[in-house]
Amino acid sequence: MPARPGTVATVSTDAPVPGPWSRAARGAGLLGDDGSLRPSIFAEMSALAAATGSINLGQGFPDYDGPPEVLEAARQAIADGINQYPPGLGMPVLRNAIARHQQRFYDQLVDPDREVLVTAGATEAIAASLLALLEPGDEVVMLEPYYDSYAALTALAGARAVTVPLDPRGFTPDLDQLAAAVTDRTRVILLNSPHNPTGTVLDRTTLELIVELANRHDAYIISDEVYEHLLFAQPHVPIATLPGAAERTITISSGGKTFSATGWKIGWLLAPPAIRDAILAVKQFLTFVNGAPFQPAIAIGLDLPDAYFADVAASLARRCGLLSAGLQSAGFSVSAPAGGYFIVADAAPLGYDDAVAFCRALPDLAGVVAIPLTAFVQPERVGAYRSLVRFAFCKRDEVLDDAVSRLTRLRSASGR
Ligand code: PMP
Ligand code: GLN
Repeated sequence: MPARPGTVATVSTDAPVPGPWSRAARGAGLLGDDGSLRPSIFAEMSALAAATGSINLGQGFPDYDGPPEVLEAARQAIADGINQYPPGLGMPVLRNAIARHQQRFYDQLVDPDREVLVTAGATEAIAASLLALLEPGDEVVMLEPYYDSYAALTALAGARAVTVPLDPRGFTPDLDQLAAAVTDRTRVILLNSPHNPTGTVLDRTTLELIVELANRHDAYIISDEVYEHLLFAQPHVPIATLPGAAERTITISSGGKTFSATGWKIGWLLAPPAIRDAILAVKQFLTFVNGAPFQPAIAIGLDLPDAYFADVAASLARRCGLLSAGLQSAGFSVSAPAGGYFIVADAAPLGYDDAVAFCRALPDLAGVVAIPLTAFVQPERVGAYRSLVRFAFCKRDEVLDDAVSRLTRLRSASGR
């Protein structure tokens, strides 16, 4: 079967449905009905951007470099011969810097030897945590829309995702629905704040409710905080610092976002010692270790002065403002993210009700790539998010300006 124009070619073509080797991936819904690879939405849309020469506001990566000291530290580490396997827990210099960082920003005391694990990006931290904690049949409660790997890994672990929808009008959860979703079958409550794709930051009341529910039902909390330094107007509150949370919470972050180095894949998790060790037991057979020369570099980053962290947030807030104003002038209605890399725009006012079709056509219509929000929801929930599109604003000003002027063509094309 030929690939649709502009999409990633599939690996399997007319071959018979693959045999038992693919049972886990098929069972988890990660393959197409014919057993073919289904590229992630990020891979599909970045390939579409490359194939059409469009501006890529789809996949969330900055098109600018992070702090020069951090880049230089990686170069120096390579020159100094830090090129072999680092220790399984992560290099002490990085684990110590992570512990100092938690104390400095959040007053959180973390033992760098017993409570920290360095991972291949936040992605591996999420995967190893879910594989370590879940048993078949367990339930994982997560906000919907959700980062795509949450549902995939939950399914691979043989568990079931139970989703709590964020109301498309303000992208906040209904607390009664949240409370009803957590039961004694819940093994993990999986949060993400600041949230991808909506930019929602969960307020203290919601965090407190989650801690109470986790305690009542003896569930773990996995808190994906990769955008912890990318909040526009308020300080970040790690849920692990709330009373009653620390002993059951796994906090996940990544140097990729804070230091604009998504390709380095240096992430980490913080957890009480017994939980950390259970996750390590899995992680050592996933990647074992990764990124030796990048680990001391991210350590340098975590020790940068406060001004660096304030500037990162302020510059993203400015970029968000630029894209938000531009999208509105192009005729979209837009959300108001409180942090992160992304803004959600509604294409319905321009006459496009189906975000998937709209995103596939957007390179031709305007030379821009974006991601349909439906990629982050279960098929039965698509309705509420049908015309919504995620745009990344972690791009240089001139790129955002260019994208906006291209998008303004849509209004004349749609005649609205
Ligand atoms: N969680 C969220 C919410 C993300 O947006 C991303 C990717 N940007 C990740 C995890 C993965 O992070 P990493 O690139 O460090 O694996
Ligand atoms: N987290 C990034 C995003 O949401 C992409 C990561 C990926 O490509 N897997 O765009």
